[in-house]
Amino acid sequence: NKQVILKNYVSGLPKETDMQITNTNIALEVPKGSNGVLLKNLYLSCDPYMRPRMNKIEGHYVEPFKIGMPLSGYGVAEVLDSEHPKFKKGDLVWGMTGWEEYSLITAPKFVQNSTHRCASFLLHWNSCEKSTGCSLSYDDMAVKTLSTVKICMPGMTAYAGFYELCSPKKGENIFISAASGAVGQLVGQFAKLLGCYVVGSAGTKDKLTDSHITWNNKVDLLKNKFGFDEAFNYKEEPDLDAALKRYFPEGIDMYFENVGGKMLDAVLLNMNVHGRIAVCGMISQYNLDKPEGVHNLMNLISKRIRMEGFLVLDYYHLYPKFLETIIPHIKEGKIVYVEDTAEGLERAPAALVGLFTGHNVGKQVVILRNY
Ligand code: NDP
Repeated sequence: NKQVILKNYVSGLPKETDMQITNTNIALEVPKGSNGVLLKNLYLSCDPYMRPRMNKIEGHYVEPFKIGMPLSGYGVAEVLDSEHPKFKKGDLVWGMTGWEEYSLITAPKFVQNSTHRCASFLLHWNSCEKSTGCSLSYDDMAVKTLSTVKICMPGMTAYAGFYELCSPKKGENIFISAASGAVGQLVGQFAKLLGCYVVGSAGTKDKLTDSHITWNNKVDLLKNKFGFDEAFNYKEEPDLDAALKRYFPEGIDMYFENVGGKMLDAVLLNMNVHGRIAVCGMISQYNLDKPEGVHNLMNLISKRIRMEGFLVLDYYHLYPKFLETIIPHIKEGKIVYVEDTAEGLERAPAALVGLFTGHNVGKQVVILRNY
C-alpha cells in the first residue's frame, strides 16, 4: 500500500521533501464484525487547510498530521470491502481518506448533514437524493465525470460563503481574492449569475492551458473563461489600495476573503457602508510563523461592516440545495469549472506544495485511478 507520509513538521513554505512516499502492507479485507470499510482511493483533493496541519502546534480547527503517518484529506474512493451496514462493495463515496492507495476506515460515519470536524467520515455520494427526495438525477451528470464529487467541498464553500454570509443582492460590487482557485472561481460565477459586478485578483502570469485553450495568465482566465468583469494580478500592483480604487470607484459591497494580510487591509479601506466580508481563508498567512498584523480594522465600526468567518463543515446540510443550484448551471454551461490534475500518488507532494506558489489552476486533484 503506497502512502504519502509526513517526514517532519514544516516551517515556512512546504517542500516536497517534507513528505515521503513509503510502502506498507495492508490486508485487503475488513476484519469481520468490525463495522469498518476498506477503500480503494481514486481521487485525492489538495487543499490549503492541509498546510496548517503540517505545523507541530495544535490550535488549528483540524488536528496536526502525525510524523511518519500518511496525510489525510478529502477524497473520492470505491468501497472494496465493508462490514458496515450502510456501505457495500462497489459503492462510490467521498469524505476524509488517507493519502494512500488503500485506506481502512475503522469507524466510518454515514452522513448527510455532517458537522464532524476531523473524524473520518464518508458520504455516499447519492445519499442526498435518497434522504431528501432531492429531485435531481445523479446518473446523467457528474457520476460520469465525477466533477461534482471532486468539486463538492470547495463548491459547498463557495456556495455557503456567498449565499449565506455575503447576503448578496443584484447589482452589488464584489471582490474575490485567490479568485482563480477552487473556491474563488465559483464565487465569481455565482455572483455574475446574480447580476453583480465582479472583480478578482490572482497572481500567476504564466500561460495556462485548459481544455486545449491557452490563456495568457490567470487574469485572462478570470475575465475570459469565468466571465469576471475585471481582474488584476496582485503581484504586479505596488499599491493594492490604489488598485482597488481603480476597479471599485464606487466601493466594495462584498469581499470574499481567501488570502488575508495586506489584501485584507487594502480591502477594508475600500469597503462600503454596510458591506459584508465572508472570511473563508487566509492563504497568505499559512506559511508564516507569525501572522501579519491587520491595521485597518477600525473601518468595521465606521462603515458598519459585517465580517464573519465560516467553515464549510457547518454547512453540509445545504449540500442538496447546492447541487440543485449548481447542476443545472453546469449542464447549461453557465458555470464552468477548471481543475488541475496530477497523476499518481508520487506526484501528490508536488501538487500540494504548488498551492502555495500559485502553481495550480483551479481545483488541484491527484488522480490515483480513474473510475
Ligand atoms: P486553491 O488551492 O484552489 O488555490 C490557492 C491559490 O491561492 C493558489 O493557486 C494561489 O493563486 C493563491 N495563493 C497562494 N499563496 C498566496 C499568497 N501568499 N497570497 C495570495 N494568494 C496566494 O484554493 P481554494 O480555492 O481551495 O482555497 C481558497 C481559500 O479558501 C484558502 O484560503 C483556503 O484555506 C480557504 N478554504 C476555506 C474553507 C472553509 O471552510 N472556510 C474551505 C475551503 C477552502 P495565485 O496564482 O492567484 O497566487
